[in-house]
Amino acid sequence: MSQHQNQFLTKDVVILGGGMVGAATAIGLAQLGLSVALVEAFEPKAFSPEQPLDLRVSAISVASEKLLERLGALEAIASMRQVAYKGLETWEMEGFITQFHSDQIGATHLGHIVENRVIQLALWQACKGYDNLQLICPAKVSQFERIDNGIKLHLDNQQIIETRLLVGADGANSQVRQWAGIGITGWDYAQSAMLINIETELPEQDVTWQQFTPKGPRSLLPLPGNNASLVWYDDANRIAQLSSLNSTALAEQIKQVFPQRLDRSFKVINHGCFKLTRRHAQRYYDDNLVILGDAAHTINPLAGQGVNLGFKDVAALISCFEEAIKQQQSWWTNELLAKYQASRYRDNQLMMTTMDLFYASFSNDLLPLKLLRNSALKVANIDSPIKRQVLKYAMGL
Ligand SMILES: Cc1cc2nc3c(=O)[nH]c(=O)nc-3n(C[C@H](O)[C@H](O)[C@H](O)COP(=O)(O)OP(=O)(O)OC[C@H]3O[C@@H](n4cnc5c(N)ncnc54)[C@H](O)[C@@H]3O)c2cc1C
Repeated sequence: MSQHQNQFLTKDVVILGGGMVGAATAIGLAQLGLSVALVEAFEPKAFSPEQPLDLRVSAISVASEKLLERLGALEAIASMRQVAYKGLETWEMEGFITQFHSDQIGATHLGHIVENRVIQLALWQACKGYDNLQLICPAKVSQFERIDNGIKLHLDNQQIIETRLLVGADGANSQVRQWAGIGITGWDYAQSAMLINIETELPEQDVTWQQFTPKGPRSLLPLPGNNASLVWYDDANRIAQLSSLNSTALAEQIKQVFPQRLDRSFKVINHGCFKLTRRHAQRYYDDNLVILGDAAHTINPLAGQGVNLGFKDVAALISCFEEAIKQQQSWWTNELLAKYQASRYRDNQLMMTTMDLFYASFSNDLLPLKLLRNSALKVANIDSPIKRQVLKYAMGL
């Protein structure tokens, strides 16, 4: 994939991290006519339909789909693998359920479940359509250096790139964020998550559901064909213990704790576990540098909003730059980066805090609290303008 011949490059923008967020940013900025280099450490494995489904999947909101369409990646995703979901259901005690359906707001669907790698591959394919976008992979930065009006990057493949703007889309442990000395606030949640791909007897469903328990939610996301992704949140020790089980023993444990609506005739295909961490960068920019996606924030994934927030960052950054370029103003100034930060910081904070409120209020077995939150779920199920508004918010509209 590496397309480098020149050892010394000058680019308007260098993006470190070619994951979903970095690749989307690269295309968006290339569409504005800027010269862009996208630097990624690892090339994603090419897609083939026979491959088993990856564990890392995302529930992509309608707003994210609109961005992916604008960037020219949506068709390629559809040509690989995805599944639309129309319903979203959540409950703790049986009989106190909140159900959302796309019909309630006259939409065709609420979003799609897609493997992260499929989204990344579709974006990489779209990158090839731009002469002003250079993908450099595999490569990492071995040294960052400040120069007049920009940043100089020394890559571990001996290339040197000078740029006006460095974009950190290099994930939760962002090297760019750390080099810039941007602090974070955050903590590790007591819970971990286990992702389990199962093969089901019945073909794909179109509802994603989640049952809250004091130990953490138990969720199902439909996957293409006779497949689904289960997410089991629990305390870290329990998840570590489950990880050591073979597929048959794990299936038995799932049958004991997952709600009855999960068809019992499933087979465990693959599983993996993830620590849950909340991190929020104290600011999103520095001189000639900006961060976005997981480099700027990681959120409790219980409502599957992580990459959707990242895509909102991408859309906001593109829109700020587009406006500046239209007005023939400089697009790399701190003033403009501050505008980007202002457009995203509070929204990201709000979503993170909402997830934490859910996490805290459901991680408690006190009876009065349990009755209160279950009554709230029942009330929330009544069709009302507020419910429709919540649904639109979940869709990113
Ligand atoms: C258990 C779990 C379930 C989740 N479920 C959902 C969901 O349903 N919906 C949702 O929206 N989100 C979900 N998320 C969150 C989502 O996966 C992340 O928000 C998303 O992957 C962030 O994308 P990103 O591109 O910002 O970062 P990443 O995906 O981390 O990509 C960063 C990229 O940068 C590269 N990189 C890193 N460092 C360097 C370097 N120094 N040099 C070169 N390259 C580098 C990496 O190789 C990688 O390709 C979930 C997360 C977890 C943990």
